[in-house]
Amino acid sequence: VDTTTLRLVDDGLRVPLADSRTCAYANFDYAASAPALERVVDAVRSALPSYASVHRGAGAPSRVTTDRYERARDTIARFFGAAEPGYHVCFTRNTTDALNLLSRCVPGDVVVLEIEHHANFLPWARRRVVPVAATRSDTLAALEQELSARPAALLAVTGASNVTGEVLPIGELARLAHRHGARILIDAAQLAPHRRIDLCASGIDYLVASGHKLYAPFGTGVLIGRADWLDAAPPYLAGGGASAAVTRSGVDWHTGPARHEGGTPNVLGAIAFAAACEVLAATDRGALVRDEQTLTDRLRRGLESIDGLRTLRIWHDDGDVVGIVSFVVAGCDPAAVAELLSNEFGVGVRAGKFCAHPLLAALGCSDGAVRASIGLGTTIDDIDRLIAGVRCAVTDPRCARRTRSQ
Ligand code: PMP
Repeated sequence: VDTTTLRLVDDGLRVPLADSRTCAYANFDYAASAPALERVVDAVRSALPSYASVHRGAGAPSRVTTDRYERARDTIARFFGAAEPGYHVCFTRNTTDALNLLSRCVPGDVVVLEIEHHANFLPWARRRVVPVAATRSDTLAALEQELSARPAALLAVTGASNVTGEVLPIGELARLAHRHGARILIDAAQLAPHRRIDLCASGIDYLVASGHKLYAPFGTGVLIGRADWLDAAPPYLAGGGASAAVTRSGVDWHTGPARHEGGTPNVLGAIAFAAACEVLAATDRGALVRDEQTLTDRLRRGLESIDGLRTLRIWHDDGDVVGIVSFVVAGCDPAAVAELLSNEFGVGVRAGKFCAHPLLAALGCSDGAVRASIGLGTTIDDIDRLIAGVRCAVTDPRCARRTRSQ
């Protein structure tokens, strides 16, 4: 793997500790937002001197910016294997925005799993929630039963859990949905940074993802998917750009991505997102996956060697898992553990319920958990520091869970 192209902007970042020393930051919160790649920052910097409003201006900077914006769309389509006629790539603010957009386009019920992030749960007004079973294949059988009992327009599932990192068999899910006349949406917010996704080859109808989890800065997501529902639905943001012709009493809306991209778009965000896709597309992702699996195994085994610690798993099978390990420790408060790791070890994890309350409840963790997620900058030293920190935290009285009477 070419480590030069994969260099991140936060390389060498130092953070303060409680005793006023500083130390190198060990980032274990990639699943929330990943730091940008240096190449992404270069791409934004090179677009900055001459940017102008897209699609409308006649000046040279406007034409150059329009060209960059549309090339970003094409790059992202290719990255996700969706560069075929019949699919649109709509730019959005993030995954949540993309799912809300699609929710206005779906002509019927939506079947989801209880493991979904709230972003792939709350927007679906007509949702039918399927509980997970003990294994991935039993869960597929439960979905099959739901879809055969009553027709649905869409099966909307995550590509990988943002809590446990477990990967779903997206090709099989697509076949299952299609067998029952439903389409399939993959929430790729967590899967895309870790695995190559080929939308057309896997039979995926819709895919959503966020640039800020894929090594670009905040502000841009995508909805990629079949054109017909998108072109038939009312525009997501009514206004200039979405409308082709307007009279005092009527309007003709554009079809295509423009229909849902009313207003001036986040062009620099689109350029950044595409630059990150370009870097990842040019990288040996098989090697990245192998490195990530080695680090994730070390993290999981190290944590599981700590007395009283339980790592969270949805399924009792040995399917694929991306670089996320969440855990609870008997008698410990997750937020206090996270705070101690930051203050005394310079380690950034996340504590809480990760916008997946139904899943946390199903896992028996309604009081929350700690999540450690890894990415391109993670080293073995970072992992060993995290494990040493958790080992200290579990016996530290400041991390003891307070009972209600205290
Ligand atoms: N889906 C999943 C699986 C996620 O992990 C997240 C982010 N935590 C989202 C959706 C929402 O992403 P965003 O905050 O970028 O809208």
